[in-house]
Amino acid sequence: MKTRISVELASRLKHLPPYLFASIDKMKQEAIDKGTDLIDLSIGDPDIPTPSHIVNAMKKAVENPVHHRYPSYEGMLSFREAVAKWYRKRFDAKLDPRTEVLSLIGSKEGIGHIPLAFVNPGDIVLIPSPGYPVYPIGTLFAGGKRYMMPLREENDFLPDFTVIPKKVFEKTKLIFINYPNNPTSAIAPVKFYREVIKIALKYNIIVCHDASYTEIYYDDRRPLSFMQIPGAKDVGIEFHSLSKTYNMTGWRIGFAVGNKEVLAGLGKIKTNLDSGVFQAIQEAAIVALDTDDRILSVIRKTYQERRNTLYNGFKKLGIHLIKPKATFYIWAKVPSIFDSSGFVAHLLEKAGVLGTPGNGFGEPGEGYVRFALTASVDRIKEAVERIGKVL
Ligand SMILES: *Cc1c(COP(=O)(O)O)cnc(C)c1O
Repeated sequence: MKTRISVELASRLKHLPPYLFASIDKMKQEAIDKGTDLIDLSIGDPDIPTPSHIVNAMKKAVENPVHHRYPSYEGMLSFREAVAKWYRKRFDAKLDPRTEVLSLIGSKEGIGHIPLAFVNPGDIVLIPSPGYPVYPIGTLFAGGKRYMMPLREENDFLPDFTVIPKKVFEKTKLIFINYPNNPTSAIAPVKFYREVIKIALKYNIIVCHDASYTEIYYDDRRPLSFMQIPGAKDVGIEFHSLSKTYNMTGWRIGFAVGNKEVLAGLGKIKTNLDSGVFQAIQEAAIVALDTDDRILSVIRKTYQERRNTLYNGFKKLGIHLIKPKATFYIWAKVPSIFDSSGFVAHLLEKAGVLGTPGNGFGEPGEGYVRFALTASVDRIKEAVERIGKVL
């Protein structure tokens, strides 16, 4: 008689792409166990707390019993109105809060779920690489085929559509794009979005733009929303989030806006899988979206100081790196004697500084390392100093 069942993973989990950060995670833990004074620049999670007026709004809302019941999956109308108002003010883009805004339990939730709504087994999904791992994973879970679009420095980290065969386009159901881009920090010009719309119309492809970082930018140059481009709503949607803009990664609230049929499809998945966002969090999010731009300028200034410290410091050390126009990442070339993982391991072991190996975001990221500006200027200065000694 058996005393326990044998637990076997479904093939969709067994066939996940290898998790390339596993060995780095292990080395990080070993360094911590050894008592290393680790400067961790590997995490895409703001170290700055949520602004207090947002926290206070949550405190108040949590006491209201109205919010203790199930929320609606699509979000409170007042939250969706706040999103529409924010898009109008921020991007001069018009959205109908009833049909063109959908709440999400963080944008990751929507990005991971959307292929389930539209991708049949065998359909192709176009995915930027290096890129956010949820695009290929969501595609795999839906049984879709991944077609990777390499983002290369010589092409300003934009995908080159001219090298994608017509046959591929014809089988493509959905495309993910992401600007300002994680991990390369690139932004996209109007021309690029216009090209995307043209291709989407020609081949009937749903466009999913991930815009998580539009509010973290430098030198007063604001990145675009896809919703600012005429015709965007005819071909797709944009994912956005409060996580990065308002230092609210732990709160789990985001949203998708744009094409109402696409949003309805995603909503159909959501009604069947989740029950929406805790309303007290939506109340806090409404307050967040109404935040005075002066507060956001302070946050941007903080990142700008950090960016300048790391960028100028690394430049002096002779490291080739991309000057970010947005996001809180710096994408740097690894010295030619190393590969991505080797360089990250070297810096961790010899300098106690942790970055993220570029190949972990996809094969075209090989030869790069990503540093997150989620540590203080003093710690970044020290990281530059320590790295200077071990190059
Ligand atoms: C952080 C991040 C997200 C997810 O943010 P949520 O916290 O789930 O809203 C989505 N896309 C990219 C590129 C990110 O870096």
